[in-house]
Amino acid sequence: MRRSFKFLLRPTAKQSAALTQCLEDHRQLYNAALEHRRTSYGKAGVTIRYGDQSAELKEIRKEDPDGQGRWSAGSQQQTLRRLDKAFAAFFRRAKARQKAGYPRFKGRGWFDTVQWPAVKNGARWDSRPHDPVTRLYLLGIGHVRVHQHRRVSGTVKTISVKREGARWFVVLSCDDVPAEPLPATGAVAGIDMGVASLATTSDGEHIDNRRRLAASADRLAAAQRDLARRKRGSKRRREAVARVAALHAKVRRQRLDSAHKAALALVRAYGVIVHEDLRITNMTRAASGTIEFPGRNVAQKAGLNRSILDAGWGVFLTILSHKAESAGRELVAVDPRNTSRTCSRCGHCAKENRVTQAAFRCAACGHAAHADVNAAKNILRAGLALRDAAQAA
Ligand SMILES: [Zn+2]
Repeated sequence: MRRSFKFLLRPTAKQSAALTQCLEDHRQLYNAALEHRRTSYGKAGVTIRYGDQSAELKEIRKEDPDGQGRWSAGSQQQTLRRLDKAFAAFFRRAKARQKAGYPRFKGRGWFDTVQWPAVKNGARWDSRPHDPVTRLYLLGIGHVRVHQHRRVSGTVKTISVKREGARWFVVLSCDDVPAEPLPATGAVAGIDMGVASLATTSDGEHIDNRRRLAASADRLAAAQRDLARRKRGSKRRREAVARVAALHAKVRRQRLDSAHKAALALVRAYGVIVHEDLRITNMTRAASGTIEFPGRNVAQKAGLNRSILDAGWGVFLTILSHKAESAGRELVAVDPRNTSRTCSRCGHCAKENRVTQAAFRCAACGHAAHADVNAAKNILRAGLALRDAAQAA
């Protein structure tokens, strides 16, 4: 199993300056390689590939010993591969006649990650195993302190360093991470993904109230409005940009944190978890549920705030699927259409059943429940039916 581990770095002031420089040089390498591909094709019709650019690295490093020559050739190759992937994706979309989007030059602040292959000498995880603090060695930067808050398992394949606002993180991508199965539980649950709570179970539990995230989203929206008013090039504008970046990072952390907690709670409690198929959810969500009841709730805020709350579902499901796989739990995805307007007791399906955002009352049998719990029960039923059908086949 492949898994990644993310830790906060605690660089010294000097290391922090070197990290910034390292990121900047990799950004410039990326842009130069992009420019090279563009002009070669534009002027001479020649297609440049990853292999061509990688072969030139040696020369580039030799000519610029105090610049590009300072960093690991391995991380520079990863940067060129990243550009290669951007081109591959562009050609794939163009071929499929989708909106293509030519790879773009990366401005300052739009290039935040450098990756090293762990097998070469440019980067080494746990570089001083006898030191009581974990350290990460990076060529040209030194042995950086790591705040390692959990154990790493498996084989480290790549080491990425990311800048998020003013902080630096390391992400280890590991192969052969052993699964840690949890003891079997006969319990099954359906979960409804919502906006007031991240998830509600068919047992009636609301997981992760989103008020904290909504508050951060509000602050982020305000900071962005403030940024829009600032004049280009002004000191106030630079400050506003930093504030927006810090709030973005905070929202991301909160979302990840709550997704991890919610997923862990579900995986501990249930052997089979049924959730909505997100591809269909995203298509239908706009036409049903939350939008029908504007006002009052944190849920109905428009624009950025709303998209921040919504976007959490994808992150949550990704984490849930990793944890479920590791714990040996079963996940089932079902078509969510009509789950919020169907009565979980009698099956009567009508828009009028949904009285408000939170209240469900069946117009046929009078069954009353929290709307999300009712939906979660329908999701569970659909999932179990799907599972039975699959086992019968
Ligand atoms: Zn009913």
